[in-house]
Amino acid sequence: MKYNFKGNFGLMEFTVDKDGNASGTYQKKGILSGVFKNQKFSGTWENKGLEGIAAFTISDGILEGNWKKGKEPGPMKSKWYGEQILDSSSSNLERDNKPPFQNERIIDEVKDKVDHLKEAINKLYNDNDDDSRDSLFNEAKALVINEQKCSTSLIQDKLKLGSNRAKRIKEELEDAGIIQLGGDGIYIVVDRYLLVIEKFEDNKELLELDEGVVNQYLWSLYLSDGNVHKCYEMIQHYEQKFKSNRWLKLKGHCYSNFKWYDYALEAYEKSNSLSYLERTQKVFKDYLDLIEKERWEMAIDYFEKNLSLSVSENNLDIAFKYCNALYRSSESNEIKALKKLKEYIEANPEYKPFLDLAGSIANFLGKYEEDIDMLADATAYYKKAGNKEGILLVKESIQKVKLVKKQKVAEEKAEKARQAANMKQLEAERRALEKDLAKEEAALEQLKKHKFKTSRGITFCQFCGKDSSWSSYDCEGRQHGHNYVLMKVDGSFTPICNKCGSNSSFSEYSCS
Ligand SMILES: [Zn+2]
Ligand SMILES: [Zn+2]
Repeated sequence: MKYNFKGNFGLMEFTVDKDGNASGTYQKKGILSGVFKNQKFSGTWENKGLEGIAAFTISDGILEGNWKKGKEPGPMKSKWYGEQILDSSSSNLERDNKPPFQNERIIDEVKDKVDHLKEAINKLYNDNDDDSRDSLFNEAKALVINEQKCSTSLIQDKLKLGSNRAKRIKEELEDAGIIQLGGDGIYIVVDRYLLVIEKFEDNKELLELDEGVVNQYLWSLYLSDGNVHKCYEMIQHYEQKFKSNRWLKLKGHCYSNFKWYDYALEAYEKSNSLSYLERTQKVFKDYLDLIEKERWEMAIDYFEKNLSLSVSENNLDIAFKYCNALYRSSESNEIKALKKLKEYIEANPEYKPFLDLAGSIANFLGKYEEDIDMLADATAYYKKAGNKEGILLVKESIQKVKLVKKQKVAEEKAEKARQAANMKQLEAERRALEKDLAKEEAALEQLKKHKFKTSRGITFCQFCGKDSSWSSYDCEGRQHGHNYVLMKVDGSFTPICNKCGSNSSFSEYSCS
C-alpha cells in the first residue's frame, strides 16, 4: 500500500508492505522506517543528520501524530499533520511493464489495435488544422467552449457575422467534433478530453506503454473538469514508470491548481516554463509588495487566500512575513500571530526567524499583560534561537513586571489599611451618635415621669397636678413649667400652680 501526503512535513511518500513494514520519505532527505499496523505507524525518522522517533495514525485521509528528537523513549511534543493526496487505487497500477503477449502474430495484431486506438485518440486530442476552414473557426471554437453552448445566432451575435457565414462555421465545428446535436435538438459542446480519458482508460493495458498517448491522457485529465487530483496522481505514476521528467510543467499546473505555489515554482523552473514561472513568481511578488508597503490587513488576507498552502522548507520566509503582518496589523491579531508561529515552529524547529519573532511577541505581550508565564515562553523561544540579546530583554521585562506587581500589592495593602481606618472612625462616630440619642431618649423619658407628693392626705403630681390615678399616662406638665402646690380653694384643698394659679386642667398648656 502506498500513500502520499502533503503536510507540515512537506510531501511524504509512505509505503507499507503486506507484513506491515513501513518506510517513507519526506521533505528533501527525510526518511521514515518502522511498522504500520491498525492504521498506526511507529518507528524512527532521520533528516539532515538528525534522528528521532515518530508515531502517527492515518485515518480518513488524515495523517496525525507526533515526533521527537533522539531515539530514546520520551514525550513526543512536536506534531505531524498532513492530508492524503492520492487514494490508494494507484497501488493496483503497480504492474509489470512488459506486455503479456508472447506469440508474434498476436503481437502484430495487438500492434495494429494499438495503432488504431492511438490514431483515434490523436484525432480526438489534436486540432487537425484545416486550411479550408473559415478564418474565424478558432475564435468560434473558443467562444462555444467558453459558453458551453452553440447556436448560429450565438456565433452571429458575438463574432458580428452574417447568418450564412455563422451557419457555415457551426457546421465546421460539428464536423470537427467540437459540438454535437443533442437529443432535444440543441447543440451541446463535446468535452473531447473526457472522450480521450474514456478511450485511454478502457484500453489502459495497451495504451499505457506509449509515452505519447499517456501524455495526451494526462493533459486531458488536466483540461477536463474536476480531474486535477487524478491528473496529479497519474503523473506521479507515469513519471516513475517512464522515468521521465516530461510532465514537470503539467505537474506545475496541478500544483498551481492546488495553490501549492512553492512546488509550482520549482516545477516551472525545472521545466523551463518561463511564462508560468513568471506568473507564479508574481503570486509571491504581489504578496511581498503588500508586505513592503505595510498594508498588513491586505497582506494577511492575500496570504490566507493564496499562500497558506505554499509554506514549505524553501519558502518559510512568507510564513514569517505573514506572522509579522498579523503582529503588526492590530492588537486583536497578536495572539493569532503567536499561535501561528507555534504551529510553524513545531513543523520547522530549526528556522530561527520564527523563534526570534515568537520571542519578541511573547516578550511584548508578557510585559504588557504582566504575564510571567508568557515571559517564560519568550525566554524559551529566545533560548532555542540562541538569541542572547533577547534573553536579556525578557529578563528586564520580568524584573519590571515583578516590580509593578510588588507595587500593586503594596498599593492594595495601603488601600485596605485606609479603608480599615475609615471604618474605625465611622464606627466611633456611630457609637457617639447612639450615645447622644440614648441621652436624649432618657431625658425625654424623664420629662414624661410624674413626680407625686402627698400633703394633707392628697397625692398629686408637682408638675401636672394630676392625682396618682394618672400615673400610667405620660406627665404632660414638666415641660410646661407649672409648679403645683396644695392651696385652699372654696374651703377645700386642691393642687394649684403657684406661678400661674391654674388648676391641673391647665397642665398641658405652658405656664404663663
Ligand atoms: Zn405629672
Ligand atoms: Zn403655672
